[in-house]
Amino acid sequence: MTKKIRVRYAPSPTGLLHIGNARTALFNYLYARHYGGTFIIRIEDTDRKRHVEDGERSQLDNLRWLGIDWDESPETHENYRQSERLDLYQKYIEELLEKGLAYKSYVTEEELAAERERQEAAGETPRYVNEFLGMSEAEKASYIAEREAAGIVPTVRLAVNEAGIYKWTDMVKGEIEFEGANIGGDWVIQKKDGYPTYNFAVVIDDHLMEISHVIRGDDHIANTPKQLMVYEALGWEAPEFGHMTLIINSETGKKLSKRDTNTLQFIEDYRKKGYLPEAVFNFIALLGWNPGGEEEIFSQEQLIELFDEARLSKSPAAFDQKKLDWMSNDYIKNAPLDLIFDKAKPYLEEAGRLTDKAEKMVALYQPQMKSLDEIVPLTDLFFEAFPELGRAEQEVLAGETVPLVLESFKQKLEAMDESDFQPENIFPQIKAVQKETGIKGKNLFMPIRIAVSGEMHGPELPNTIYLLGREKSIQHLTMILEKIQ
Ligand code: GLU
Repeated sequence: MTKKIRVRYAPSPTGLLHIGNARTALFNYLYARHYGGTFIIRIEDTDRKRHVEDGERSQLDNLRWLGIDWDESPETHENYRQSERLDLYQKYIEELLEKGLAYKSYVTEEELAAERERQEAAGETPRYVNEFLGMSEAEKASYIAEREAAGIVPTVRLAVNEAGIYKWTDMVKGEIEFEGANIGGDWVIQKKDGYPTYNFAVVIDDHLMEISHVIRGDDHIANTPKQLMVYEALGWEAPEFGHMTLIINSETGKKLSKRDTNTLQFIEDYRKKGYLPEAVFNFIALLGWNPGGEEEIFSQEQLIELFDEARLSKSPAAFDQKKLDWMSNDYIKNAPLDLIFDKAKPYLEEAGRLTDKAEKMVALYQPQMKSLDEIVPLTDLFFEAFPELGRAEQEVLAGETVPLVLESFKQKLEAMDESDFQPENIFPQIKAVQKETGIKGKNLFMPIRIAVSGEMHGPELPNTIYLLGREKSIQHLTMILEKIQ
């Protein structure tokens, strides 16, 4: 019988949803949906020091924005936050204490730090050395009594089987093996404040929630042997593990770091800038995975259908913002105008530019936008003063035939009736200038474009002129003519 597929994304609400975590969530989601399994969200909030107010809501909101949904979470299920499961952890801590597989440790922070210093000075790898080593039962009892009397609160440590070998077949990386002796000694499963440590709680939760596959970032590889020790101690079967490859910054070639301030790394950033969630989803799905072949644009349905864990890459995934921008532009230009207009509206509104021509402006720039916030600077021409001319533009305007072209076009616009001033009637006017002056091609279009918009390159010309309006276009032409004559 095949195992029920139950996977989870288990964020610690310590900040915004980072691209790396979003990828973990997304691959778990794809895995669950591909196999008809269950996708669970569990909140790992036992690190009180790093807890961020609103961190949970922000994680979930951003996942939803990406188009990810789930079957079980703290929103619908009780005790899906670790802070609500303390009794459960306590129960298993006690079980291990009773069985002698864990013990209370009274060593202080200062003692640990001094020991670490000594080990480092001696060139040894820092590890916890059992504080009861070499003590008789009587000595042990008086050591404990003394420390308890001094008000020292113990931690609980797991008694590590130093001779044990902890290995698994990783879904991504293949065979991985750690020796119990290299784990750093008996490690803490319950902190002084009564909270379990991550490596302990995660096992209790994954087991009780019947998680079949743990898919997470490879920064967790060194945690896995510790978790296997807990499975062993409690006599439970461990799930499958898959550790996804590192994400590196394609610009620096190094691990993507929050210090790379030139790279947007939080889903919230993309959301605020008006990237389409479908594009971001598509982009993240290809970070360390691909279905083979050249194609890179896939809908969510296609990705669910195509997902195959055997194609999770072993080599680092490059986070390439240019690729994301290319992909995002592809989604924007191929989306229906009404959807793009709807999403661009808030940016225009905030800039006070939501005029009755706004939809046509969005249509004009839709083919070139990478994110919808770009609509504001792109529409500067229609709302701001005429831009300063660049050198290349000035050179074009110095051309011999330019005054002729501009004068002729200005007259054509002046002769037009306001009611005829429609996009489809503007191109014929440019053609009329060509006929009248005998000037065509670049020498015709370039001076007109620069005179009305101030720039050599831009979107479709007749629509630009239409959106600028007849009066403003004439004004610009007059101003440029005065300048060059
Ligand atoms: N709370 C852990 C993290 O955010 C989850 C690790 C795991 O998936 O086991 O990294």
